[in-house]
Amino acid sequence: MSIDIINVTKHFGSFTALNNVNLTIPTGELVALLGPSGSGKTTLLRIIAGLEKTDQGTILFDGKDTTARDAQERQVGFVFQHYALFRHMNVFENIAFGLKVRPRKLRPSKQEIHDKVHQLLELVKLEGLANRYPSQLSGGQRQRVALARALAVEPRVLLLDEPFGALDAKVRKELRRWLRRLHDELHITSVFVTHDQEEALDVADRIVILNEGRIEQLGSPEEVYERPQTPFVYNFLGNVNLFHGRIHQGKVRIGSIEVDVPQYAHTLDTEAISYVRPHDFEIEREARGNELIPAHILFIRAVGPVVHLELKREDTGELVEAELSKERYRELALKTGETVYVKPKDLKIFIPEDYVI
Ligand code: ATP
Repeated sequence: MSIDIINVTKHFGSFTALNNVNLTIPTGELVALLGPSGSGKTTLLRIIAGLEKTDQGTILFDGKDTTARDAQERQVGFVFQHYALFRHMNVFENIAFGLKVRPRKLRPSKQEIHDKVHQLLELVKLEGLANRYPSQLSGGQRQRVALARALAVEPRVLLLDEPFGALDAKVRKELRRWLRRLHDELHITSVFVTHDQEEALDVADRIVILNEGRIEQLGSPEEVYERPQTPFVYNFLGNVNLFHGRIHQGKVRIGSIEVDVPQYAHTLDTEAISYVRPHDFEIEREARGNELIPAHILFIRAVGPVVHLELKREDTGELVEAELSKERYRELALKTGETVYVKPKDLKIFIPEDYVI
């Protein structure tokens, strides 16, 4: 089932929750809607589900207009953050619920329901827990039951709203890997809402980054992370250092240093903001001309394979976060309080005039 979202706008009173959103989700894709709180993720998910009406725009399922159809007609499966399992029903009954409430003509036989539920229990790795009640399950197990329940009715589309949001970090990680494997087995077109960038980067085929009701960028995890198209995306996906400076004829000046930016060879004295990821710095003990920024080491965290440094620039007083390998750190024998010299190896430039920041 493919989904087309065409020119969708949604207001709540005078507030614009979605502003002319266009998105095509091909059959079998797992898409993450990622963005900060209030960016419109849940509203878009509810519109795809048919739980919320659009003010303008069209939703197509497999090319057919479903804008006026309700959630049941759209045959979507849901999993929410707060596992809405029926507390008075055991796991088996919870999973079977959607099948048992079907009109008589469409309802499978008792044996069929039994087989289907056990098949699903196997799929979500909960064989043997059919008779437990929700209160006797862990949070992660409950979410897997919720997923099995959503899958029981063979939805054409699976929608997940922060499904692992209430779980602790370790279980979250396990479950999202598991969800990815499950999706690879079932290939149900799925849309997954999260505000956790790592979760989106880990799980999704494609990520849709939302900001204030608009799509900022859309692409594979690698594309959005490696090639952010706007300052918002750059900031949102991972740690970043931001330097204010000016570009003139292929050189950007950042405080006391100048870095070559040949792609701006024809730019004349223009304000520029340079973004540098912490792992994109070289760190040296010796100054080399005016290529390197002197900085004072405030803090070192040397746990794990990557060493994190917090530095204070001696030219402007700005803070810089840098990362280096443990080998390089040992080679340099760095200590808190020392002065070192840093140089951006890779920087991304945005000209403020081109963006609203
Ligand atoms: P979160 O990560 O916090 O869940 P979100 O990106 O999912 O955020 P939405 O729930 O889609 O955001 O909400 C987008 C905006 O629309 C928010 O500012 C929210 O307050 C507003 N909004 C959502 N539903 C309603 C409603 N029924 N009535 C009024 N405003 C609403």
